[in-house]
Amino acid sequence: MKAAVVRDSLDGYVDIKDVQLRDIKANEALVDVEYCGLCHTDLHVAQGDFGNTAGRIIGHEGVGRVKEIGADVTNLKVGDRVSIAWFFAGCGHCEYCLTGRETLCRNVENAGFNVDGAMAEQVIVKANYAVKVPDDLDPVEASSITCAGVTTYKALKTANLHPGEWVTIYGCGGLGNLAVQWAKNVFKAHVIAIDINDDKLETAKKLGADLTFNSKTADSGAWVQEQIGGAHASVVTAVSQIAFDQAIDSVRAGARVVAVGLPKGAMEVSIVKVVLDGIQIAGSLVGTRQDLAEAFQLTAEGDVKPIVATRKLEDLNDIIDEMKAGKIEGRMVVDFTK
Ligand SMILES: [Zn+2]
Ligand SMILES: [Zn+2]
Repeated sequence: MKAAVVRDSLDGYVDIKDVQLRDIKANEALVDVEYCGLCHTDLHVAQGDFGNTAGRIIGHEGVGRVKEIGADVTNLKVGDRVSIAWFFAGCGHCEYCLTGRETLCRNVENAGFNVDGAMAEQVIVKANYAVKVPDDLDPVEASSITCAGVTTYKALKTANLHPGEWVTIYGCGGLGNLAVQWAKNVFKAHVIAIDINDDKLETAKKLGADLTFNSKTADSGAWVQEQIGGAHASVVTAVSQIAFDQAIDSVRAGARVVAVGLPKGAMEVSIVKVVLDGIQIAGSLVGTRQDLAEAFQLTAEGDVKPIVATRKLEDLNDIIDEMKAGKIEGRMVVDFTK
């Protein structure tokens, strides 16, 4: 079967190779991949930013049909549509796995990083960790929910918003446009979308943002304080250190700031503000199996609409170049069904 494999040179690209998968074990399932999106995280893996990943099959935004199940599998049957996400499996018995925080498991397996991923015609999954995709959800859109969708859904959950409260969303790209939709349509919040790109702000407006602000040359924190007296929460998807600083400036007392984007560097936080204003700062990383199941269901019901386009596996290195150049709106999804 054909697969996208990280090069020995870790030059940030992949080779499309014929790969022979091993036989499945008793607790596993073999999945015929239908669609797999390319994520910025795959680029980091392909250039060795997280360690030497030469020879690894990338891909953690996969959706496909179960082709074969192992002897002990009871939760899946042949033909089920399942997802392959960055959270591939936890150990199942540590304090995090046992308390609904399995993405923090210290022995976590991540698809397309420390186990082979879904940018391939077939992938082996651990049956207990494969989340089913509802039949009435478009599988191309589902691939996007597997990563960007669940990540932003979980971030909004972490923000602890009540209906009618205000949230600032920093960064309105692949993650941010989904965050705006979750905030409006599921959490019933008022949304201020902040970016440095007018096109992305225009999209955010169309998706329901109540206010938008271009922070390229102006301080969004001061502007938000002027407009509404500070937001009740902020979700930062931007890969920019300044965005994190402004996010903290954009909130009112008692607010929670949720960090999702991963720029290098440190956050500038006033200890006085954190203490006197009771500000909470929380990191949020992808989502659990339950979060993903919820995100799939809500998307099937029409609460969010991912922006997706399909491409061929052979185009993958071109897509990598387009992603590096910031030319992609939403997600490019490789179609394995043809
Ligand atoms: Zn991803
Ligand atoms: Zn664990």
